Amino acid sequence: MYSDLRRPATAPSPQRPIRVAIVGSGIAGLAAAHTLQGLADLTLYEAGDHFGGHAHTVDMSLSDAHGRAVQFPVDMGFLVLNERTYPNLQGLLAALDVPLAPSDMSFSVQVPGAARDGSALEWSGSDLSSVFAQRRNLANPRFLRMLADIVRFNRLTTQLAQRGEDLGEHSPLMQPLGDFLRAHGFSEAFRDWYFLPMLGCIWSCPTDQMLAFPVATMVRFCHNHGLIQITNRPQWFTVAGGSRRYVQKIVQGIADRRLSTPVRQVLRDEQGVRIVTEGLVERFDAVVLACHSDQALTVLGSDASQNEREVLGAIRYQRNRAVLHTDASVLPANPRAWAAWNYEGGSSNARVCLHYLINRLQPLPVSQPVLVSLNPQREISADKVVATYDCEHPVFDLAAIRAQARVNAMQGQRHTWFAGAWAGYGFHEDGLKAGLHAARAIIDRHGLVPLPQAGDVRRGALPGVFA
Ligand SMILES: Cc1cc2nc3c(=O)[nH]c(=O)nc-3n(C[C@H](O)[C@H](O)[C@H](O)COP(=O)(O)OP(=O)(O)OC[C@H]3O[C@@H](n4cnc5c(N)ncnc54)[C@H](O)[C@@H]3O)c2cc1C
Repeated sequence: MYSDLRRPATAPSPQRPIRVAIVGSGIAGLAAAHTLQGLADLTLYEAGDHFGGHAHTVDMSLSDAHGRAVQFPVDMGFLVLNERTYPNLQGLLAALDVPLAPSDMSFSVQVPGAARDGSALEWSGSDLSSVFAQRRNLANPRFLRMLADIVRFNRLTTQLAQRGEDLGEHSPLMQPLGDFLRAHGFSEAFRDWYFLPMLGCIWSCPTDQMLAFPVATMVRFCHNHGLIQITNRPQWFTVAGGSRRYVQKIVQGIADRRLSTPVRQVLRDEQGVRIVTEGLVERFDAVVLACHSDQALTVLGSDASQNEREVLGAIRYQRNRAVLHTDASVLPANPRAWAAWNYEGGSSNARVCLHYLINRLQPLPVSQPVLVSLNPQREISADKVVATYDCEHPVFDLAAIRAQARVNAMQGQRHTWFAGAWAGYGFHEDGLKAGLHAARAIIDRHGLVPLPQAGDVRRGALPGVFA
């Protein structure tokens, strides 16, 4: 039985600050909470056992060069940002005084059975030696064709991006990627040994789904992130000490934060919203659903409008398993082909298999390989597994891209705002921007001013500063 703690539905006044519920403590929810701090009475609900959502740092222990056990943090979710396309995140981290460390976006591919002798094809883009990690590829026409196609592809897509081609809903660039590759005569080797692995790593998405992504999404994203440039690529960074450093700094400022408290239902009426958790119903003036699109639809349930059902239902998520371990046998057999991001092709196109070599992504005090594998397809020795974690990634197919264009019209209807990386390209900067926008809209809607009791609350993330 739920107990109903409904508060009197009085209009907010200087005596009664508005109450805002934030559902989900990923970057989107944290950005909204941090921005509204000191302006509204906040409650942050988190279903999981840690704050931060995909910002998920775990501790592990290994021996250092002197044989001494050292404990250190490793990120199993959000890992990297760059200097060019994460301005809000960089601003937030700087305001929170959270240091960054240089990172690496090198990328390798291993495709079992793809070499002419039936063994695995292996290569990495770090330098010429790693491109030809398997020296026999110097005389492999399919491999050389792939390299030529990469140069042609980078040139073509850079032109498309720079031309500012109409990327509206009816643009030819809304055509599925599979059709685009065929129309421009890109080789199978290019598609299977470079293009799909690269996008699979970026979007953690299975290759068969990716061919249905619209060209525009890929062109805009890859161009912005400098992924289709040979020169002038952005520098990548990671949060020194793990992403939980920024999560903790934000969370400690939110007095009413509730871990392991899944919101079961959100009910809306004229006065505001009621948030239903296990055994409790509480009333708020507004809610930010900072969870995934499908999770938002679940908590709205039968109360969801037709529009919410269509939009949230069209932006689907794909489930993936992340395993933190020390079993380097999952990496390419030739260490010359090792990179920070290591894609592994396989028989199944249903889930992407990717191994992050954390030693190249984050500063670690040990030299022994530390890996996070996404959907490992080969068995990892049980004694080398440190932690596992199930996570979900948005699927940006055509239906999702079309639905994204309708998200704005849904915002603020019936006291409800939506925020999440799913509203953009699926990255940390997108989640942050969505949270800032939701907070900004609530500030505007309610004309919020700092609460008298807010004192010297840090106002570092006020929208407008980083937007
Ligand atoms: C393995 C992995 C690696 C990644 N690496 C990068 C990277 O290097 N760079 C990058 O930019 N992006 C990366 N991403 C993308 C990442 O998903 C986004 O960066 C971003 O963290 C997503 O933020 P979000 O707030 O939208 O969602 P999330 O972080 O998933 O947060 C949603 C939160 O809502 C909570 N929740 C859900 N339902 C409820 C409920 N009913 N009640 C209460 N709480 C609820 C969830 O428990 C979760 O904590 C990575 C993702 C993964 C999974």
